[in-house]
Amino acid sequence: MNDLKYARELVLDQIKQACQIAQRERSEVQLLAVSKTHPSSRLKEMYATGQRAFGENYLQEALEKIEQLQDLNIEWHFIGHVQRNKTKHLAEKFAWVHGVDRLIIAERLSNQRTAQQTPLNICLQVNIDDQDSKDGCQPHEVAELVAQISQLPHLRLRGLMVIPAPNHTAAFAEARQLFNTVKTKHAYPEDWDTLSMGMSADLHEAIAAGSTMVRIGTALFGARDYSH
Ligand SMILES: *Cc1c(COP(=O)(O)O)cnc(C)c1O
Repeated sequence: MNDLKYARELVLDQIKQACQIAQRERSEVQLLAVSKTHPSSRLKEMYATGQRAFGENYLQEALEKIEQLQDLNIEWHFIGHVQRNKTKHLAEKFAWVHGVDRLIIAERLSNQRTAQQTPLNICLQVNIDDQDSKDGCQPHEVAELVAQISQLPHLRLRGLMVIPAPNHTAAFAEARQLFNTVKTKHAYPEDWDTLSMGMSADLHEAIAAGSTMVRIGTALFGARDYSH
């Protein structure tokens, strides 16, 4: 068994265990493979193990990989910070964008998604534990943003994305509560099905609190090298 197959099986096992402990169905939690900094050849190997959903943070790097791997049936997720002048590429090339935190970004993505494409899946990023340095809207802004964004024609607003500070796992429960509150008021509650939270170091806590999509990089691909 190669190293990526082994790493993925370990992560899938961890997800399964976390679901069992939390008395949740295994099918409620998806694995997103976060592949930033890793070359296309590694993504291809990971794809061969059965992985289909990949997450990228840096647009230029992601566009190169999307081009190189266009023959594979990959579902591309953008999980980085969304800059206003970069929305066109995101709307064209990705299936999901997790980092939407302003109406103007959502409007641009909707306008730039073509009618021939399936709607772009969106998560609203929330700065759940009020970190100064973090992107994301404030929790009190969520209800209004959901009301506005869910009206945009070429988007499907799926849920929330959070990145709490390390060791601040209490924030996961706050995110879940916010997610549940919105669901009761949502115009299309069946679309509101995604809580994107949990990374390599805290996937157990995230799943215990109700995550439906864990974004895992290091535990799948090993440590990242940012030197080049
Ligand atoms: C890099 C990154 C991850 C993956 O983090 P690991 O700790 O390597 O699992 C998940 N989510 C976001 C938003 C990231 O930027």
